[in-house]
Amino acid sequence: MSVSSSSSIYRLQPVHDHHHHHNDQAVGDDEGDDEHPIAYEIEDQSNLDRTFFKIRYRSNSAVSNTSSNELSHSITALTPLSINNASPNVSTAITTPAVLPIIKVLGTGGTIASKGQSSHQTAGYEVDLTIEQLVQSIPDISSTCLLEYEQIFNIDSKEFDTSHLLQLYTKIVEDLSHYDGIVITHGTDTMEETAFFLQSTINTFKPIVICGSMRPSTAISSDGPMNLYQAIVIASNRESRGRGVLIALNDRIGSGYYITKSNANSLDTFKSIGQGYVGNFVNNEIHYYYPSAKPLGLTYFNLTDDNNEDATTIILPQVHIIYAHQGLDNQLLKLTIEQLHSQGLVIATMGAGSLSDETNQYLYDLIGNTTFPVVYAKRSMDGMVPIGSIPKVLSEDEKRINFNNAIAGGYLNPQKARILLQLCLNQGLDLNEIKKVFKGV
Ligand code: ASP
Repeated sequence: MSVSSSSSIYRLQPVHDHHHHHNDQAVGDDEGDDEHPIAYEIEDQSNLDRTFFKIRYRSNSAVSNTSSNELSHSITALTPLSINNASPNVSTAITTPAVLPIIKVLGTGGTIASKGQSSHQTAGYEVDLTIEQLVQSIPDISSTCLLEYEQIFNIDSKEFDTSHLLQLYTKIVEDLSHYDGIVITHGTDTMEETAFFLQSTINTFKPIVICGSMRPSTAISSDGPMNLYQAIVIASNRESRGRGVLIALNDRIGSGYYITKSNANSLDTFKSIGQGYVGNFVNNEIHYYYPSAKPLGLTYFNLTDDNNEDATTIILPQVHIIYAHQGLDNQLLKLTIEQLHSQGLVIATMGAGSLSDETNQYLYDLIGNTTFPVVYAKRSMDGMVPIGSIPKVLSEDEKRINFNNAIAGGYLNPQKARILLQLCLNQGLDLNEIKKVFKGV
C-alpha cells in the first residue's frame, strides 16, 4: 500500500517455533494456544492520541476466541528475543504484517443491504440482504485482515432512532478491545448522524469506518461491494488510526464529524465542502492527505459512568429541529417547546444565524427567563454560524440585550447540532457549559 508513516513499527519474531497464519480458515487448528503465542507485535503509538507502547500477542486459538486475543502489557514486562525493525519500509509491514488485523463488520442495513425488482431499479427497493451475504459479495480479503461480522439490525437508516444508536454504541464498545478496527454498513440517509454520535461518544484510536451504498445490491454497477471492500481495507490499515470515525464511499474518505450527504441520488454524495476529505482510495491504495487528527471542536461524552452500566437503557433528552424560512409561523416554536416537551431546540436558520427580528423576540419572550438552550444552526450546507451572529432582543425594561439562550451552532449542520445538544443535556451541562462545548465546533 502506498502509505507513509511517522510511527515506528517493530515486530518481534515468534518466541516459539510456531508459524504465523494469515487465514481465518486456520482458526482452531493446533498451531498455537494462549500460553504459546505465535507472534508478538510492538507498536509505538506515540504519534497518535496517547504516548505508550503496547505489546500484544495472539495465538491461533485466541483468534477463534476473541475474548482473549489481545493482552496489553507494560513494555518492561516482556523482553523481546529479537526485534525486527520493519521501518522504513512501512508499506511492507502493512501488506504483510506479522499479525493480521482482526476487523469486525457490523451490519445495520441500508441500500447496501437492499434488493430491487430489476437491475435498473435505483429507488423504492427494500432491505433484504444479510451482512453475511454482503461480506460474501467482496473479493477474498484474507491477506489483508481476519474478518468477523455480525448483524446488529437490518433496517433502512430512516428508521434509526436513539435506541439504535445506543445499541450500536454498546456493541462497538464491547468489540473494541477484541478487534483492530470496526466497519459498519449503514444506510446513507442518516449515516452522518450515526457517525457524529459515535465520534462524540467513543474515544478510541482504532479505526471505525462507516460505509454504505447509493445503489441497491441488485442494480447494474452497484457501488456496495466496492465501498464495503474499501472500508475493510481502510479499517485494516494502521494509517487509519487516530482519525476518528470515518465515512468511506465512492473512493472518498471523509471525517464522520463534518461530512454530510449532499446529493439524494448520486454516488458521489458525501461531502464536507469547507473541511474537505481526509483521503482517497485508488487502485487498492489508501492516500491520506494529512497526518492522523481528529476535529478540533470534538468533545467526548462518557455515556456510562461505570463500565457495567447498560447504555441501551439511556433515554436521551428530546431536542427538536425547526427549519426556518420566509414567513415562519412562530407558533411552531411555542408548540414544539410546550406541547412536545423539548428540552432544547435547534433552528436551521436562513444564513449565518438569521431569523426574523419578530421570531427572535418571540423566542426571547417565550424562554428568556429560563435556561432553555436554542442552537442557531444553518440551512446552508457550507459555512458557519459565529457567536457574533447571536441576535439582540428587547428586554422587559426595553433594553437591547444579547439573547442569552441562543448558542451559535458553528460549522455543524442542524442534525449534528441536535445530537450534540442531546449529549450535552444528557450530561447535565448548564447553558454556559453547553456554550463552551459548541464554541469550537
Ligand atoms: N434508504 C437508504 C438508507 O437506509 C438510503 C441509502 O442507504 O443509500 O438510508
